[in-house]
Amino acid sequence: MDATKLEGSAVTKLIASIVTVGEELLIGQVLDTNAAYLAAELTRLGVPVMRSLTVGDDKEAIRGALDEGMRHGRLTLLTGGLGPTPDDVSREAAAALIGSHLRVDTTVLAAIKRRFALFGRDVPAGSERVASVPDGFEVLSNSKGTAPGLWYQGENGSIVVLLPGVPHEMKAIFSEHVIPRIRALSGRTAIAQRTLQTAGIGETEVQRKVEAVSHLLDPDIIVAYLPRLHGVRIRLTVTGKEASNRLDAAERHVRAKLGAAVYGCDNDTLEGALGGLLKRRSLTVAVAESCTGGLVLHKLTNVAGASSYVAGGVVAYSNMVKQYQLSVDSRVLKQFGAVSEPVAIQMAEGVRARLGSDLGLSVTGIAGPSGGTEEKPVGTVWIGYADDHDTRAIKHQFGRDRQRNKDKSAIAALNFMRQILLQS
Ligand code: AMP
Ligand code: MG
Repeated sequence: MDATKLEGSAVTKLIASIVTVGEELLIGQVLDTNAAYLAAELTRLGVPVMRSLTVGDDKEAIRGALDEGMRHGRLTLLTGGLGPTPDDVSREAAAALIGSHLRVDTTVLAAIKRRFALFGRDVPAGSERVASVPDGFEVLSNSKGTAPGLWYQGENGSIVVLLPGVPHEMKAIFSEHVIPRIRALSGRTAIAQRTLQTAGIGETEVQRKVEAVSHLLDPDIIVAYLPRLHGVRIRLTVTGKEASNRLDAAERHVRAKLGAAVYGCDNDTLEGALGGLLKRRSLTVAVAESCTGGLVLHKLTNVAGASSYVAGGVVAYSNMVKQYQLSVDSRVLKQFGAVSEPVAIQMAEGVRARLGSDLGLSVTGIAGPSGGTEEKPVGTVWIGYADDHDTRAIKHQFGRDRQRNKDKSAIAALNFMRQILLQS
């Protein structure tokens, strides 16, 4: 179709709607991972997603959602409701949408029969439903299951795609059949997107710094701030001509302003960033953990290849273990308490000496919900560091939630060591 003819018409603009179908999604029993997957894939393909709607297993609701999708953009993708049971009514809804009828597709039915014969099983009741195709829809074969995907392209160019709800089947059909067809469509937007990962800096501070360089950034850039436990993510989006180069330029400015607060982008992890530093400098690390109970080492060893820089660690939960395994001075423990600067430092020194590593890292804190005092409330955490000629410690005051305190402490410990290595 001629792209110029399409201009000005909302229906024919290459933007997408996602419709996910299933009562299980509406009641919160199943997390809607299909919508997240499709949204990410479509964005990557240069098809902006404008709406995402979840409806129950109801023919009218599904038809309405598809109709709404078709009204707002050229592409509407649906997942779910294509199974063999009577509550799966997406096919009926799609037939009603375009005013056509369902017909059993003998090729699809034969493929289903072959599949069950292969597994030595009887063809289940309902297979004819699964093999029913609304007139006007094309079959997209399912290499991972029985229900095929279905593709409709109307005369005005608007497209409706039906995909099964089972995530791995949906993904297989999407990548084998839908992606190539979307790639062939004209009018895709060039989208360049990158998410910078930060640690140890709050959302307002991140925003203030990015604002300070906003005059250097591409005038059409979209900046989004996404806070989470590990730190704030900054998503940068540039669309149109030279999108990729313009994004790279913007990223350089943001990184220069935020300095060491940025540890990576997209799927990078903090433990991966720290691991990379340790590896490049041929340094080994040992960890002494109290309130994190091994979480710091768990994270460090999640990284493939960690054996080249992780020596090991000691979970020193009791004072006895701190004293006898890490040589923390009993008088220091008595005078300052287990959650204190000198104990954090002695733990880091102790684990380093005991395990023979280049660097020592330690965490000692009050995870809660009980155990706090006025002087050291729940959420007080000390992190210690030791190397050949230097020791350091830093105090954090986190909140009251035990699990979150453990997570935040582990992240803070990894980031503390990373920051020290970057300065040296
Ligand atoms: P259906 O194709 O509707 O029969 O869905 C089959 C199964 O796929 C459901 O029981 C769910 O466990 C799963 N499922 C359906 N829709 C989604 C979705 N949007 N996200 C994740 N899983 C889903
Ligand atoms: Mg269902």
